[in-house]
Amino acid sequence: MTLYKKCQLFMAWVLVVFFTFPAWISALQGTFGTAGIFAGMAFWLGHGAVMMHVFRCHDCGLSPFLSNKGFLAISTPWPRKVCGHCGRNHCEADDR
Ligand SMILES: [Zn+2]
Repeated sequence: MTLYKKCQLFMAWVLVVFFTFPAWISALQGTFGTAGIFAGMAFWLGHGAVMMHVFRCHDCGLSPFLSNKGFLAISTPWPRKVCGHCGRNHCEADDR
């Protein structure tokens, strides 16, 4: 599976989490109170950390969700097909 496909699947999961947010955050609040809300927020923010740190270009390590390695990199909600740093095509097979 290509890195781009993995990122697409992850973003599909993120959309499911996003659109079901009212249901699961209120369930967490009802079960655990304020602590449940904090746990839900940590869970949600964790998805951003996964986008930045789990999915990485195999050649240079840049996240497909970032435009470059500079301080002023732009973060996009959908992965790039071509690496913003080294130009690697993320649509190519990368199982190695
Ligand atoms: Zn790269």
